[in-house]
Amino acid sequence: MQHTNAPLRTGPVRRVVIAGGGTAGWMVAALLSKVLGKGLAIRLVESDEIGTVGVGEATIPTLLTYHQLLGINEQEFMAATQATFKLGIQFENWRNVGEDYVHSFGLTGKDHWTAGFQHFWLAARQRGEQRVPHGDYGDYCLELRAGLENRFAHLPRNGLNYAFHLDASRYAVFLRGISQGHGVQRIEGKIAQVLQHDDGDIRALRLADGSEVEGDFFIDCTGFRSLLLGQTLGVGFEDWSHWLPCDSAVAVQTASVGEAVPYTRSIAHPFGWQWRIPLQHRVGNGLVFASRYLGDDEARAMLLQKIEGEALMQPRVLKFTPGQRDVTWKRNVVAIGLASGFLEPLESTSIHLIQRGITRLMQCFPAGGIHQTDIDEYNRQVRDEIEHIRDFIILHYKVTNRRDAPLWQHCAAMDVPQSLAHRIQMFSDTARVFKAPHELFGENSWIQVMLGQGLTPGAHHPTADLMGDDELGHFLGEIRKQVARQLVQLPRHEDYVRSYAAPVQPQAATA
Ligand SMILES: Cc1cc2nc3c(=O)[nH]c(=O)nc-3n(C[C@H](O)[C@H](O)[C@H](O)COP(=O)(O)OP(=O)(O)OC[C@H]3O[C@@H](n4cnc5c(N)ncnc54)[C@H](O)[C@@H]3O)c2cc1C
Repeated sequence: MQHTNAPLRTGPVRRVVIAGGGTAGWMVAALLSKVLGKGLAIRLVESDEIGTVGVGEATIPTLLTYHQLLGINEQEFMAATQATFKLGIQFENWRNVGEDYVHSFGLTGKDHWTAGFQHFWLAARQRGEQRVPHGDYGDYCLELRAGLENRFAHLPRNGLNYAFHLDASRYAVFLRGISQGHGVQRIEGKIAQVLQHDDGDIRALRLADGSEVEGDFFIDCTGFRSLLLGQTLGVGFEDWSHWLPCDSAVAVQTASVGEAVPYTRSIAHPFGWQWRIPLQHRVGNGLVFASRYLGDDEARAMLLQKIEGEALMQPRVLKFTPGQRDVTWKRNVVAIGLASGFLEPLESTSIHLIQRGITRLMQCFPAGGIHQTDIDEYNRQVRDEIEHIRDFIILHYKVTNRRDAPLWQHCAAMDVPQSLAHRIQMFSDTARVFKAPHELFGENSWIQVMLGQGLTPGAHHPTADLMGDDELGHFLGEIRKQVARQLVQLPRHEDYVRSYAAPVQPQAATA
């Protein structure tokens, strides 16, 4: 690795080429053109013939920040993408068959500076419901209760923490409109060859019709193919399938049956898990599975058997390897989206990682020339972030009481990364969790999932034991009452969506 601050490629970066127009390509194009578009010529190459991966419909709350940066009107966005609100994920059968929990986006209870809320709830649980009424851990989280009761509204102060379910194809079209409004030039064509300078940097994309699209800087959004970073620059791929055994998915869209709930459903099965994502106009469904335990044809049949509502298409099988490119920025190429790596969609993190990729790139944008220091810093931050998310996803497989199938037996026996082993052990010993700097999932998420998956801490913080039964009961009771008071004020989710996101003309461009 070079460590000099000399530019790798002298001369300013003025011509940016985005290869690929899926969710990643158009998310990159929209923000780059909005913020730096005046100084750049941005072109995006995509191929209708190849198409996009066509899934990726559940998001997390950070997407609101991306929309704010773009100046997107939320109602227009929701109408254009047929979006619904999402308050968290319900994990069904994950701890064990017949047991559910929710990982919600809201905060649970109230922390003391010495000890998180879980310590107080655990102290009450140890004393018993008779002595200190305490209910479920989720009773202290408004987002969780609102989700399960199918309610939603924007609240005036300290509102609900939410994200969206959206139609992936419509989202790409929506962002394309914004990008083109900012001057991004779209080129329809199939990339036949990636051309390099003598020093190895990418010079141009040669399309099937023989034309060339030259650039100073390239953003590889070509999906799993990773045409520029992987195939051309030869960047290796770190395979994490020994921790994440699922390597396939089958997806199908169905007609809506019943109300759209404001949470994603993740239902564990003997061979993997199933998602259900309710949109305004349809439902997205899929089965993520380990091919060593289930064949594609069986998976298709099983999904069709488990869906509710009429299938609107033939089920589509997708193959992937969980893992990450060794680096995501090399020379004059940055890969964003599936071209950079993939973690299964259990916690809906891929669109977030696209967003982080583009915002981080813009923070170190090499307008004046490409420096190895920027490349190294970018790669280090990307790696840190993805490894924390990887650990969080592995947690769901590792900490469970399920042993009813080879998949779950394998997960119970497998080693996990040291960073995760430490976290699990610390929570088991003391109920403590500490968030790493810049980590996506905070203490609140880790605690919900660790408790939800069935991890029972052996101890809690002594601060909680300083409270007598009455004092602890009063403290907990007041929080539950506050949640209940806010809950009854919320309208039904579907009514709210209907009145809030009524179809309007999609936004062509923002200022
Ligand atoms: C089963 C599954 C479920 C998922 N669920 C979620 C979820 O719920 N939430 C979430 O955040 N993420 C999810 N994801 C991830 C999400 O789908 C992707 O992160 C997102 O769609 C971005 O994909 P992409 O743009 O990188 O790739 P693609 O959508 O594959 O786009 C690649 C682009 O490159 C173009 N291209 C490729 N080769 C060429 C060529 N030779 N010439 C020209 N153009 C070319 C294609 O035409 C296309 O435009 C899921 C992924 C999978 C596999």
